[in-house]
Amino acid sequence: MNKNLSLFEQSQTLIPGGVNSPVRAFGSVGGTPIFFKKGLGSRLWDENDKEYIDYINSWGPMILGHANPEVLDAVKQASQNSLSFGAPTSRELAIAEEIIKLVPSIEQVRLVSSGTEATMSAIRVARGYTGRDKIVKFEGCYHGHADALLVKAGSGALTFGQPSSAGVPEDVAKHTLTLPYNHTQALEDLFASSGDEIACVIIEPVVGNMNLIIPHQEFLQSLRTFCTKHGAVLIFDEVMTGFRVDLGGAQTLFDVIPDMTTLGKVIGGGLPVGAFGGKKEIMQQLAPLGPVYQAGTLSGNPVAVAAGLKTLELIQRPHFFTKLTAITSNLVDGLTASAQQKNIDFCARHVGGMFGMYFSKKAPDSFDEIMQSDRDAFKKFFHLMLNEGIYFGPSAFEAGFVSAVHSEEDIKLTLKAADKAFNTL
Ligand SMILES: *Cc1c(COP(=O)(O)O)cnc(C)c1O
Repeated sequence: MNKNLSLFEQSQTLIPGGVNSPVRAFGSVGGTPIFFKKGLGSRLWDENDKEYIDYINSWGPMILGHANPEVLDAVKQASQNSLSFGAPTSRELAIAEEIIKLVPSIEQVRLVSSGTEATMSAIRVARGYTGRDKIVKFEGCYHGHADALLVKAGSGALTFGQPSSAGVPEDVAKHTLTLPYNHTQALEDLFASSGDEIACVIIEPVVGNMNLIIPHQEFLQSLRTFCTKHGAVLIFDEVMTGFRVDLGGAQTLFDVIPDMTTLGKVIGGGLPVGAFGGKKEIMQQLAPLGPVYQAGTLSGNPVAVAAGLKTLELIQRPHFFTKLTAITSNLVDGLTASAQQKNIDFCARHVGGMFGMYFSKKAPDSFDEIMQSDRDAFKKFFHLMLNEGIYFGPSAFEAGFVSAVHSEEDIKLTLKAADKAFNTL
């Protein structure tokens, strides 16, 4: 009996679509989502006891692999002293120190419980600080599901063919201006016409929510210049890229420093933690000091912060990112070589420990280009790989993630499966 199937059938009667986050339903690739019961290192086991090499890593957080003993130990110890106080703890101070030390743009930081809360709060602060309403985002970038940000948002929204969502009032969406990614001229034109009305520009400095898109250096630099010139707050949404592409995030990799940064995913090591931070004068607009309200019953939760703090400690060990980048590079190079040998239009790229695979001749630079990739080929490839026990994101619009414990053997097995899959294609 296929337990995944029976669990999915039952779940659909009780949970909308059978899932608690849309892309998990396999809508864009078809078939039955996998119900997992166990993970260890780079491997996962489903309810049928089938083993997989995991390239989703909970969409990024599990950068140390599953069930890292040191992280589990930190969680166990913290949990024995209560799961929550709703009051400050010394551990929050410790993680704030780490974040401020590692992320150049952050002088002060506040913790929340998800990436969505982080971006929503950052935008509120930016608006409060500037006294302006308009915000700018880029096509295909996803910044969580706050109303104002569900305009031309990536992955989940793309996967389901809804560039924006029902239930978002036009009055809210009308303040969100959308521009094409990597298009400096469009940026320049917008700032020329309405730069002084823009509260903030929010961007994924490396995009991971319409597959992987790498920014042009000159595009990010122009963005910095225009924001400074017009007094708009530049927000890097590093919920995915933070502690993933480099220890200091995309901002250290590209050496472009925003005014504010949002974090999530890796920062909680698998438990719900998000954060937003930036320049002191902006962050001090927040209550209780300033007029911008923001709060959370479980913000800075002691157990979640313990997992995050230990994760941040472990990723600072010598050579961590060099090694993570090298493993990811082996994967990407191997996949590309294998497809080339079989004359398949395919390419793959990576930044640090995140990667993209595209069924197209050339790696895409924008939303329009990614939409032109061969989604049918991806679908077939996805299922062939899944069958071989290789678990990639179930959509052509998702990035992939490698952990620090993915071994050469894991990569070898993955490439062997890919060889077979490309042959079948
Ligand atoms: C995942 C993600 C979010 C949303 O975070 P949640 O924890 O899912 O709310 C926001 N921005 C980016 C760039 C993300 O990748």
